[in-house]
This record gives sequence, structure tokens and C-alpha cells, in this order.
Amino acid sequence: MDFDVIIIGAGPSGLTAALYLGRANLKTLILESVGSGGQLNYTYEVDNYPGFFGKGTELAEKMRSQSLKFGGIFSSEKVIEIKVLAGDIKLVKTRKNEYRAKSVIIATGANPRPLGAEGEEQFKGLGVSYCATCDGAFYKDKTVLVAGGGNTAFEDALYLSKFCKAVYLIHRRDKFRASANLVEKVRNNPKIIIRTNETIEKIQGDSMVKSVVLKHTLSSRISVLDTSAVFVAAGRLPNSAIVKDIVELDKSNYIVTDENMRTSVNGIYAVGDVRTTPLRQIITACADGAVAANDIAMNW
Ligand code: NAP
Repeated sequence: MDFDVIIIGAGPSGLTAALYLGRANLKTLILESVGSGGQLNYTYEVDNYPGFFGKGTELAEKMRSQSLKFGGIFSSEKVIEIKVLAGDIKLVKTRKNEYRAKSVIIATGANPRPLGAEGEEQFKGLGVSYCATCDGAFYKDKTVLVAGGGNTAFEDALYLSKFCKAVYLIHRRDKFRASANLVEKVRNNPKIIIRTNETIEKIQGDSMVKSVVLKHTLSSRISVLDTSAVFVAAGRLPNSAIVKDIVELDKSNYIVTDENMRTSVNGIYAVGDVRTTPLRQIITACADGAVAANDIAMNW
């Protein structure tokens, strides 16, 4: 056997699992496709992870160095296939290597969900962005738009309001998923204009985004709003494709687990945003990682 456990993904859930497995003396490989930290790298400010207040990238670095300290072995490789072999051994294939382990933890997180508006694909990177903290600075003193009604949309709007001229927050309903304190902060911010019951039908421009066509969901009224950018914050889609034919998924393609993070296949666990869970935050992702690692260690 190459490793005791292979963790696929190095966001907060994967890094916490690595820390706990290292402390349990289990030989652990962490495979990361785009570096450590996951969505922490796109989080400007973290203020709901107890004991820490600061940039997401800083927390990611701290988590990574802590798991390294306890023996975690990192490799930047994209996993392309997982197989269950005889004797319950898991084979993890990457573009470069094949690894064997007794247990595998899927910590692959989730990716942005597209809006599905006409022109969205065409203007991707030309004014359409899925990461306000990555691309926001390009729009200093400009008018921009954020689409969505969840925590990400509200946090993005607040972040962009620090340097943009104006920020429109467009939501398709009049109820928000975002937490009450964020909604209040946004409502009290004179630079942010909330527009509800509107959908983005079309994103248009020349070489860059110039405006969007909006449709009111109740009156069907069509209007055009000038904007230099569209920041999409329409939720996430789970990165569960590599196990879709092996473990049970729910109807939205999240991996189904029990309370110990066990999937429907013995020795395969799922943690963090990729699994069915009522709350997807840093703290719950970390807790998932700890629970999975503990279950593996206790049953070793
Ligand atoms: P989310 O909570 O799923 O919200 C997505 C928003 O996008 C919803 O308001 C949804 O509208 C809207 N939407 C989805 N598809 C759309 C479409 N095709 N067109 C227009 N609007 C669309 O996603 P999120 O804000 O990215 O948050 C994901 C998870 O991370 C949540 O559990 C959230 O609490 C957590 N998070 C937490 C924090 C924090 O605690 N500080 C920060 C960021 C994220 P409907 O409401 O109508 O469905």
C-alpha cells in the first residue's frame, strides 16, 4: 500500500482531515489540483471562524502549514479516476501517477454555478466574473453588478463597494438567503442599490461588458442597466464527478454521507462543500474533516 489515506482536495475540510490523520500517525497523501485553501483563497475577509479574523488566504496558509507539521504529504495532481480494487483497496489515478490506499477522503468542494444568462459565456473574463475578490480591483470607480441573494452575493457587494462607484445587487426573488447582519450592512451602505424580483436575461457589450437586460419577474417589464462588470454569486455546484459512478449522490449531485462522513462505499468518505449538509462554512468543513479522520483512525 502506498498510503494509509488519500485526501482529494486541500480546502479547510481536507486540510483539517490531514491534520487529524497526521496526529493519528496515519500516512496521508493530500492531492490538490489548484493549490491549498480552496474557497478560502476567494474570501476577502473571514469573520465567522472563531479565533481568527483576517484574510482567507492567511487562514489557508496557516491550515496548510499545520497539516504539514504533522506529516501530511502534498502533491499537486489532478485526480482523474478512483477505483475500488479487490481487498477493498482504493486506487487513485492522476494524470501522472497511480496511488493505492485503504481509505480515501473526497474533499473536492464546489465550483461557481453559472447564471445561465445569454452572453454570460461570451463575456467570461471580459466583465463576467465568478470571484469578486479576485477581479474586483479592475473596476475601481466603476459601476458594477452582483447577481444573487446569498451570503456570497452580499459579501461581494460590500467588498466591491469599498472601491467601486456603485454596486447593484440583483436578486431574482424578494427574500434573501444571506444572513440578517449582512443584509443590514448592505441596506445601510449608500453605494449599494438592491433590486429584487429581477432576472438577468442578457449580458451585452462590445469587447467588454457594457450593460445587462433585466426582466421583472412579476410585471415582465424589461429594462437595461449599464454596468462594467457582472459578478455572479449564484451558488455552487459540487465537484463530485470523479465519484459519480461509485458513491451515492443526492438529486443535486452532492455526495450523501452518514454522520461519520462515510459514503455508500466502505472506506470512501466525503467532507466539506461536496457533501449533502445543511450548512457550508469554514467551520463546518473543518468539523467534517475532523469527524472523517477520527472515524478512520478509530477503526484502523
Ligand atoms: P447560495 O446561498 O446557494 O445562494 C445562491 C443565490 O443565487 C441564491 O440567492 C439564489 O437564488 C441565486 N441563484 C441561484 N441560481 C440562480 C440563477 N440561475 N439566476 C439568478 N440567481 C440565482 O450560495 P452562496 O451565497 O455562494 O453560498 C454558498 C454557501 O456558502 C451557503 O451555505 C452560504 O451560507 C455559505 N457562505 C457563507 C459565508 C459566511 O458565512 N460569511 C460567506 C459565503 C458563503 P434563490 O435564493 O432564489 O434560490
